[in-house]
Amino acid sequence: MIAPGETIGILGGGQLGRMIALAAANLGYRCHVYAPEADSIAADVCAAFTQGHYDDTEKLAAFAAQCAVVTYEFENVAATPLEAVTGHARLQPPARALEVAQDRVNEKTFVEALGGRPAPWAKVDNKADLLAAVERIGTPGILKTRRDGYDGKGQWRIMSTADAQALDLPTKPLIYEGFVTFEAEFSVILVRGADGDVRFWDSAENVHKAGILDRSTVPASPLILTQVEEARALAKQVADALDYVGVLTLEFFATDAGPVFNEMAPRVHNSGHWTIEGALTSQFENHVRAICGLPLGSTALAAKGVVMDNLIGDDAHDWPKILSDPANHLHLYGKEAVRPGRKMGHVTRLVL
Ligand code: AMP
Repeated sequence: MIAPGETIGILGGGQLGRMIALAAANLGYRCHVYAPEADSIAADVCAAFTQGHYDDTEKLAAFAAQCAVVTYEFENVAATPLEAVTGHARLQPPARALEVAQDRVNEKTFVEALGGRPAPWAKVDNKADLLAAVERIGTPGILKTRRDGYDGKGQWRIMSTADAQALDLPTKPLIYEGFVTFEAEFSVILVRGADGDVRFWDSAENVHKAGILDRSTVPASPLILTQVEEARALAKQVADALDYVGVLTLEFFATDAGPVFNEMAPRVHNSGHWTIEGALTSQFENHVRAICGLPLGSTALAAKGVVMDNLIGDDAHDWPKILSDPANHLHLYGKEAVRPGRKMGHVTRLVL
């Protein structure tokens, strides 16, 4: 067990790290952020900050030597340099979870082996692969980068074979996915303790705009509720197979034919921000409890329902209006530059 007072290292300097650090501080831990950017909104609320690249093994090792456990808020850290971390501190969730989740092909292969059903997909490394994939899977479809994609970035809609032919392919490993006709989207967020104890939060119904999460609502619609059990069973299998410790998220499309797996994130997730006020223990606190080997807190709802809205770009300027309603819980991430599509904060409302 890692006792309060010890130092938790966080790889990644964004809002997820910031909220992990705030939860850790409540439990009496110190946090040390490692991130490449000079201004880190996570480091703003932490005891220590190392600015460094994720492939700088010397810096990573020196950072890890100051931490009792290291976690990550950002899954695009290459797994190999992380051996520099594991030489000095425990890494939780384990590096294997990163390897699986940071590559869409690995992720889908892993989940399929456990019986999960993703959209039909094909690996694409060149134009010939893409044309063959389009012929086999059909259109519409989405071409995605295998790695480093987030919030709908690195994605191209392919509506026809002519689209595929005309596309100037990026020189990165890619994947083509058939377009899923879904009724709704939802996520399963679980926490797995060091002793294998697994708990789930209620599944939120997620609405995306332009590939970015816009709103999460709990409880989800009746169709989703009928699919949650199957989705949870898959998520638990994934967690057990990885010997996972911490919070794990799987995203699904709710379709007429049941839940279709979209992707997984080996970390706390935007669609779980509602748990800060809406659950007895938030995803951030339970992540800290899990990686430190503490008993997990209850994931039960703290209200009849919860709605979380992301504040994207200019939405953040509405903070005075948001605060004028006393029922709103406002979270601003402290990002200086407001840019279109940038997650600046979120607002949560409880249905009591
Ligand atoms: P992703 O980054 O892969 O989660 O994609 C972001 C969003 O794009 C998803 O939440 C969906 O709304 C949409 N999307 C991604 N892949 C598909 C797909 N194969 N079929 C339909 N919609 C998709």
